Amino acid sequence: MIKRNKGLANLTAGYLFPEIGRRRREFAAAHPEAKIISLGIGNTTEPVTPHIDAGLIEGARRLGTLAGYSGYGDEQGLTELRERIAAVFYDGKMAADEVFVSDGAKCDIGRLQLLFGSSVEVAVQDPSYPVYVDGSVLIGAGGAWQGTGYAGIRYLPCTAANDYFPDLDLLPTDGLVYFCSPNNPTGAVADRAQLTALVEAARKRGTVIVFDAAYAEYIRDPALPKSIFEIPGARECAIEVNSFSKPIGFTGVRLGWTVVPKELKYATGETVWADWNRICTTVFNGASNVAQYGGLASLEAAGLKEMRDLTDFYLGNAALIGAALGTLGIACIGGANAPYLWAHFPGEASWDVFARILEKCHVVTTPGSGFGPAGEGFIRFSAFGHRTDVEEACRRLVENLR
Ligand SMILES: *Cc1c(COP(=O)(O)O)cnc(C)c1O
Repeated sequence: MIKRNKGLANLTAGYLFPEIGRRRREFAAAHPEAKIISLGIGNTTEPVTPHIDAGLIEGARRLGTLAGYSGYGDEQGLTELRERIAAVFYDGKMAADEVFVSDGAKCDIGRLQLLFGSSVEVAVQDPSYPVYVDGSVLIGAGGAWQGTGYAGIRYLPCTAANDYFPDLDLLPTDGLVYFCSPNNPTGAVADRAQLTALVEAARKRGTVIVFDAAYAEYIRDPALPKSIFEIPGARECAIEVNSFSKPIGFTGVRLGWTVVPKELKYATGETVWADWNRICTTVFNGASNVAQYGGLASLEAAGLKEMRDLTDFYLGNAALIGAALGTLGIACIGGANAPYLWAHFPGEASWDVFARILEKCHVVTTPGSGFGPAGEGFIRFSAFGHRTDVEEACRRLVENLR
């Protein structure tokens, strides 16, 4: 019989969110009267805003006309959208042809692994967004599961003790490091000095940074970098993935982008850019043209205003959750420049705290241990939710978690 992909067989750690869903359904079945509110999964809840929605509608309308119809487009995305992304998010520092439009950051992270194969040494922040690790395991670079982590992955602990920024002496040589800022799950944002140190360390070791900036539009502190390419030297050592999902609620529409600078080279001297172009044209056929018209609308003045208002709204939720945790005396970080709060429950197991909050408050959260060994004892609160639900959840937390 046919053999199973060894990478898949190695993927033993249950994916976090299905397990949360299973526990939620189990609780709901046992307590049919409970009105469960989720501050768990990082999924957007508010409708697409009017100007951006009009862009999507116009994109669909065009397809129904002889003059406006388009079939397959350029796999790298609409030229106009690539130019707008380069101008709006990179101040023109990155060229339009270094921007590759995609169906989302998660999908790009999965495909990026094809660039480096199964023998590359991979490092991740611990805790981290699960796809960096799981994608590496799938392609064979992660090795076998060993109790709390995979043998082939370097976990770089990010804790209160190091200001949620990893010890750069732990970076691999000639390897790959995934770095997410603003961070999911912790909500921590690396400052300019920290990212400068990261870029310097990566260049010294010949390591490539995959910088996930999916939450960049949640940054409000003007001193904090929104892109790795604000840091000198990053063009020689970094790739950036980004997404329209969290800033404009395109989680279901599916639109993102990856920036690969032409200076980024392999040991052989070939450019990573040429290979990424090859991968995009080979196993990806371009983002939906309707989605791209929506993305274009979001980068017009009216769309940018809506993006700001929507991210402000979710940050408002984060402030409410932060205030509730503060009332309870629970130490937490994040929430100011990110839609997540990372709350510490010292001496308790994350899944136990998850169960306690579900039982006492009927609120679903995310256990920190699901994001890596250093997440044990933490809970992630997500600020994605309707305002009335977030207010009600905060009331229940304050009343029942004392
Ligand atoms: C939500 C999220 C993404 C996924 O983005 P898509 O574009 O929807 O695939 C990527 N990275 C992080 C850290 C996320 O939280």
